[in-house]
Amino acid sequence: MKPTPLHAANPGPYTGDGNWTYLIPGERPVLIDAGVGNAAHLDAIGAAAPAGPADVIVTHAHSDHASGAPAIRGRWPAAGLTKMPWPERDGDVPWQSLADGDTVMTDSGSLEVLHTPGHSPDHIALWHAESRTVFVGDLLQLGTTVFIPASSGGSLSEYLASLERLRHLSPVRAWPAHGPVIEDPMALIHYYLDHRRQREEQVLAALADGLATVEAITDRIYTNLAQALLPMAHESVLAHLVKLEGESKARGAEALWVLRR
Ligand SMILES: [Zn+2]
Repeated sequence: MKPTPLHAANPGPYTGDGNWTYLIPGERPVLIDAGVGNAAHLDAIGAAAPAGPADVIVTHAHSDHASGAPAIRGRWPAAGLTKMPWPERDGDVPWQSLADGDTVMTDSGSLEVLHTPGHSPDHIALWHAESRTVFVGDLLQLGTTVFIPASSGGSLSEYLASLERLRHLSPVRAWPAHGPVIEDPMALIHYYLDHRRQREEQVLAALADGLATVEAITDRIYTNLAQALLPMAHESVLAHLVKLEGESKARGAEALWVLRR
């Protein structure tokens, strides 16, 4: 598997350097993730695949991955637009739907669709069994952890299950939507699992000390956090609390949280 990375030309406060999309070349080029429709991205797609992609497979509905789909269809009307459904977020794009276990054919072999929810409910990864490599969207990103938007479709329990699922496949390389290619995805997955376990211990300790709100727990755990990052930290703490509630270890009511014993 030798995809051509194509940058979506969308740097910004939420996307960092911006998104990577990947073109798998051939007679039936397949583009993974749609970017945001920037002209520079469309030109790069056109340079790599003059007749346009036969299929655009979108890893999830977040706008930096999906919102460029209509612009791609606008330039290449035959391009198929495909993703796992998330009806509240999919807008009026005529998506063809993908399900877990589906196969995507490319000129470099077939990709298996892995439903990997957690960062979003519709998130998929694409597994190339032949090379044990995987397109991971926002499931993994070097140099940071992945944001779990607990109030808008994120689930830490599901995310951890998705990491475990990927871990069992022992991938040797992962192509992420943000940041450089991940040459040792297993090390990153182990780091992520450890990191979340440590965070959970911190949240449990804060609850045990009587801290009851997301804000108070966040202040305890995230010291020296830039003000602009506070909303994301709140969501991360909430993601832990919701997970603990699902495991009957904590209980939340009226935005006040307590340990369950
Ligand atoms: Zn995302």
